[in-house]
Amino acid sequence: MDAKLIIIGTGPAGYTAAIYAARADLAPLVFAGPQLGGQLTTTTEVENFPGFPEGISGPDLMFAMSQQAEKFGAKIIYEEVLSVTREECSGQFVVTSSAGAYKASAVIIATGATARYPGLPGEKELVGHGLTACATCDGSFYRDVPVCVVGGGDSACEEAHFLTRFASRVYLLHRRDTLRASKAMQQRVLSHEKITPVWNTTIAEYKRDADGELCGVVLRDTQSGELRELDVKCVFMAIGHSPNSRIVGHLADVDPAGFIITQNNSTATKTPGLFAAGDVADPIYRQAISAAGMGCRAALEAERYLLTLEPVTL
Ligand code: NAP
Repeated sequence: MDAKLIIIGTGPAGYTAAIYAARADLAPLVFAGPQLGGQLTTTTEVENFPGFPEGISGPDLMFAMSQQAEKFGAKIIYEEVLSVTREECSGQFVVTSSAGAYKASAVIIATGATARYPGLPGEKELVGHGLTACATCDGSFYRDVPVCVVGGGDSACEEAHFLTRFASRVYLLHRRDTLRASKAMQQRVLSHEKITPVWNTTIAEYKRDADGELCGVVLRDTQSGELRELDVKCVFMAIGHSPNSRIVGHLADVDPAGFIITQNNSTATKTPGLFAAGDVADPIYRQAISAAGMGCRAALEAERYLLTLEPVTL
């Protein structure tokens, strides 16, 4: 199936680009990827997206955006994109998914970012068995037991606060002695009776029981190097995200952390017709609203680019 414009990703950047492009009659194909709705579908309350004074749940916000995009004619394709290449002769992009190949004159990559893990031994086997990066998905499995959250940012604080609904105690492990989360979030977490901050601490080792389930962790004091055990039934990792930029290969330059580098304060990459928006191209702000703003700009810039491809009639 061919299209004028393909948008890869269904977070705030992808859906906003889809709304603008669909309203410009570009009939975009929007690839959903492995996590329909992006990272916001794994959060609880979103309190800082303008227009919702009472807050709105992440999944509700993303569902509303998808409906708005579809209402104007965006077509959502539930396939994961594996690669994006460009035909030298035609300049057309070839988007290869798990189910086939699609061509388009312009592409917006809005694939967001994926939760990071520290890379300790045995980690892969423990994911889903007491190790996770999503409190919304897995929090309710850990009722009346102690759990821990790793990280000192807004995500870690948000996860810790959410987990107080279920867990008997939430340890917030941070490698330093000051949180980097917003002041409001810090206040909420540090004043909560169920949350115990554990400063200057990282996980040195995961402990597992005979069934392969996580049953505790060995902590390392980052100052003294001292080790001690902590009895927790689940570790919620919230140590940041890595951008999902690999699928565009050499069509876009990336910084050392993998974020796509855009040109001249726009969403354009080094390849004409390839635009990037949202967390995959934003090492600084990484907010839902800033991603949506970039999605809007990418759609407008893609629309202008597509106009330059049309034959001029005199
Ligand atoms: P983040 O701000 O990058 O924080 C990551 C945290 O993990 C930092 O505290 C960092 O420690 C720690 N960390 C990193 N690598 C580690 C390692 N190997 N071992 C132990 N700790 C490690 O990531 P985030 O919290 O996911 O937030 C990302 C962006 O989204 C931010 O801009 C944030 O404001 C935004 N966000 C906003 C909201 C909201 O407004 N509701 C909610 C969630 C996220 P250091 O502090 O020492 O570097």
